[in-house]
Amino acid sequence: MFENILLAVDGSDGAVKAARAATELAQLTKAHLRIVIAFDPIPAYLGEPNLQAAVDARMREADAILERTLKVVGEIPGEIHTEILEGPAADAILRVAETRGNDLIVMGSRGLGQLAGLLLGSQSQKVVTHAPCPVLIVR
Ligand code: ATP
Ligand code: MG
Repeated sequence: MFENILLAVDGSDGAVKAARAATELAQLTKAHLRIVIAFDPIPAYLGEPNLQAAVDARMREADAILERTLKVVGEIPGEIHTEILEGPAADAILRVAETRGNDLIVMGSRGLGQLAGLLLGSQSQKVVTHAPCPVLIVR
């Protein structure tokens, strides 16, 4: 049923649960898996060399989260791709889903946000509202 799954991760427990669900689906459907992480834009007023240092730090952090996610996913029958993007997460996820032709987006209901009691994070909500394909929100 699904051939190209997009998994969005931010290093949160919710994203780990999403990774487990995406893996099970990828096992069952033999789908390819694209793991996406976005980091917030870094303000240009930082100036060089601070700007480059900030970009490097965020890239390293994103890399570490991707590495941890790859360990959760392990081996699947399809291909695994990873992608690090700059920009608000939901916009980045939607952009990737459209350009890569994903047929399912998997994400957690909550992420790293601190707001207690929130049932659905803002990024999940935005993706659910605007996605070009089905979205699986994992709790
Ligand atoms: P908020 O960000 O609105 O304060 P939150 O952090 O609890 O609340 P979301 O950010 O919507 O909630 O996170 C829900 C899910 O969205 C996460 O489990 C993850 O799957 C995905 N997600 C969130 N941030 C990112 C990101 N920067 N890159 C990729 N995926 C993300
Ligand atoms: Mg968040």
